Amino acid sequence: MTDSCDAIVIGAGIIGAAVGLELARSGRRVLNVDRLPAAGYGSTGSSCAIIRVHYSTVDGTALAYDSYFDWKRWAEYLGVQDERGLAEFRECGCLVMETEQNGRLARVLDTVSRLGIPFERWDAGRIRAALPIWDLQRFWPAKRMDEPGFGEPTGGALDGAVFFPTAGYVGDPQLASHNLQRAAEAAGGRFLFNRTVTAIPVEGGRVQGVVLDDGTRIAAPVVVNVAGPHSGAINALVGADRDMTITTRPVRQEVVHVAAPQGFDVARAGLVVSDGDIACYIRPETGNHFLVGSEDPECDPREVVDPDGFDRSLSDQAVTQALRFAQRVPSLAVPPRPRGVADLYDVSDDWIPIYDRSCVDGFYMAIGTSGNQFKNAPVAGRLMAALIDHVEAGGDHDRAPLRFRLRHVDHTVDTATFSRRRAVNAASTFSVLG
Ligand SMILES: Cc1cc2nc3c(=O)[nH]c(=O)nc-3n(C[C@H](O)[C@H](O)[C@H](O)COP(=O)(O)OP(=O)(O)OC[C@H]3O[C@@H](n4cnc5c(N)ncnc54)[C@H](O)[C@@H]3O)c2cc1C
Repeated sequence: MTDSCDAIVIGAGIIGAAVGLELARSGRRVLNVDRLPAAGYGSTGSSCAIIRVHYSTVDGTALAYDSYFDWKRWAEYLGVQDERGLAEFRECGCLVMETEQNGRLARVLDTVSRLGIPFERWDAGRIRAALPIWDLQRFWPAKRMDEPGFGEPTGGALDGAVFFPTAGYVGDPQLASHNLQRAAEAAGGRFLFNRTVTAIPVEGGRVQGVVLDDGTRIAAPVVVNVAGPHSGAINALVGADRDMTITTRPVRQEVVHVAAPQGFDVARAGLVVSDGDIACYIRPETGNHFLVGSEDPECDPREVVDPDGFDRSLSDQAVTQALRFAQRVPSLAVPPRPRGVADLYDVSDDWIPIYDRSCVDGFYMAIGTSGNQFKNAPVAGRLMAALIDHVEAGGDHDRAPLRFRLRHVDHTVDTATFSRRRAVNAASTFSVLG
């Protein structure tokens, strides 16, 4: 059986669905193919879905702030309803602790000031008033729970933080992906689930479409790799990895949920908190729980795994993260086997994504999202559609990278920041913070 369309998007996670939406809006007949049964069932479904604006580069920060406005006006951005309802963005704000290691956020504050992003500086008194169960003693450097000195204060106390009001989280990342699917379908896009792309034929240097696991061949002059942790495998299928200086790999991550101490109302008082001193990020979770993720300190293993066969049960890593958070909140009760999720980041060499064409004409990639691009799905969709329009119209993106004007923020992105052929960006945090 042969079918044809103008563009095929491999993957229907939050970014794949957003790319499908914007390609459909640009007038293309577009098909998203996903091996799983529904949109957002891959790594997106496990996402903490934190929306925040502090990143290490100006362009990374600008993308995040541009997308913030889409999350805030989600119904308007989608332009359609969904029979399952719309995902909710809970705008509780994000508090980032100032530490010596993050340079007391001087560079971040310079960047957000340039982009007009609002923020407040909080002193220790203000932090304690907002988070009365927090103990501000210092614990840096992070350790494993079996290392000597784990859990013991290392002297001094945190004395400041920066609060970003334009931040929060999306409660149901899978529903957000479904919302994008419905919007894409309303614009003429199609979705095919339970089908795996097994081959990507190329002729005369140009991609021809895809072949699926049931033998179906779908012809298309444009194919976009948005396969998340399978991105490296998809690039290898088509030989798109030949000229890349930045590569991607599936890295296992655990996120743990812990019950809040009695009397603390997470829904009312909870914020997103990024706390480099204990190498954790925290956000409210349902059932009066905190969700605790890792900010990837050097002592933690970087577990590169087979994306088709990794262990989804929680390990000592989850307990370590919960205990690190208990350093900050001593009244927290950490059960011996806490609940949570284990899933994969698609990590690039500098933890900054790749939004680019490839060396194969017609083959593009939105990959290497490194645990920090859920929030950027709306702008990533627009950027990829603009990039594909530009290159397919003859633009030489490799020689003169597209300059991409943001929709909501007065900033033009130099897309070379997200090139597959860039040098490793030394300004990155080399962690989930990007
Ligand atoms: C635990 C965790 C916490 C995170 N927290 C945050 C956060 O707080 N904030 C934030 O901004 N980001 C966060 N992220 C990152 C964010 O979730 C990802 O960047 C985003 O979900 C990636 O979306 P995607 O569409 O690119 O990939 P995915 O959701 O992984 O989708 C890729 C899809 O491709 C499909 N696929 C793969 N191979 C094939 C094939 N051969 N044929 C057909 N289909 C295929 C898969 O089935 C999958 O559905 C987190 C990620 C994880 C894992």
